[in-house]
Amino acid sequence: MAMFDPEVWAQVPFHFWSCAFFVFGTAVGSFLNVIIHRVPRGESIVSPPSHCPHCQYAIPWYLNIPLITWLWLRGRCAHCRAPISPRYFLVEFLTGVLFLLAWWRQGPEHPGVALILCLFMAGLVAATFIDFEHFIIPESITFGGMAAGVLLSPLAPALHGKTSAADALLSSLVGMGAGCGLVYGILRGGKLLFGRKKIALPPETTVIFGEESLKLPEEEIPYGEMLYRDSDYIEAQAKKAVLGEEVFENVRVRLYKDRLEIGEQTLDPGPVTHLEVVTDRIIIPQEAMGLGDVFFMGAIGAFVGWQGVVFTLLGSSLVGALAGVTLIVLRRLEWSRWIPYGPYLALAATVWVFAGPELVNWLLRWGERGAGG
Ligand SMILES: [Zn+2]
Repeated sequence: MAMFDPEVWAQVPFHFWSCAFFVFGTAVGSFLNVIIHRVPRGESIVSPPSHCPHCQYAIPWYLNIPLITWLWLRGRCAHCRAPISPRYFLVEFLTGVLFLLAWWRQGPEHPGVALILCLFMAGLVAATFIDFEHFIIPESITFGGMAAGVLLSPLAPALHGKTSAADALLSSLVGMGAGCGLVYGILRGGKLLFGRKKIALPPETTVIFGEESLKLPEEEIPYGEMLYRDSDYIEAQAKKAVLGEEVFENVRVRLYKDRLEIGEQTLDPGPVTHLEVVTDRIIIPQEAMGLGDVFFMGAIGAFVGWQGVVFTLLGSSLVGALAGVTLIVLRRLEWSRWIPYGPYLALAATVWVFAGPELVNWLLRWGERGAGG
């Protein structure tokens, strides 16, 4: 393909392409903002055109310039002056920087690989910000990412350090399999080991499911800290459950974000402000990873191969541990329950793409020197 021929790219100065990649990145970042806002809400990403979420003012093209518009208007809507989240600026800037890094890392020799890395980075940015806000990674990103990684790898074998299309395709498929398989294994293992937290209570303890929180004798836990995903639930085997006039005996009670199950009955939890449950044990969710992370890691693996998968998993657990320690130091431990795992994976995968092999070599040499004495 002429477009990917390094000769063609070499005719234009390196720094011109650096600027072009950064500017292109900010424009893609602007589009990612639309995806981050609309995809989890099930809205179309093409229509209506960009508008202010507060006053619905349709943003004209000259006020839709990445980075500059947000700075120029000091983070406010041009029409109603309502504040526009700094996330818009951050995503544009971050995407610009990542595209620039992709060019610096691969560009002059492998422009095709640089472009594929840009697409990969765009997917990671969208997944990170959606996961932060909604605790999900949309299937369009996870499954779309797996398909893109597998289809693009043979077009630019250097992405996997290969010279033949067949070898690159194999690397991509193995990476995807390793990504899905390892995270699924961790998820299953984790569920068995510490996936759900059992709180043992004295016999015949009365627990109250209040309007906004679960009230235990010793503590009160807001539902928001326990029920992030639609599949999360709080469970108690109730000796007795009292809801208004109704009394149930020996039933299983489960509270989900959107429904309350008492024995065979399913109710809307909205109007329930006080449910008394007599029990000796309550089980609450405590999982960092969800099924979305299985496919997300599969998509990452399709781009980075199995070595990248191993690095990303180890790296993400290190970043997660550091974040946990930082939050403890800052006395913001409750925040840690709010951080989904996807962003850690995305960060570790980004480190792998731009510095992973060097980092591994450096660690190995350091280890050898240590062992040698
Ligand atoms: Zn407005």
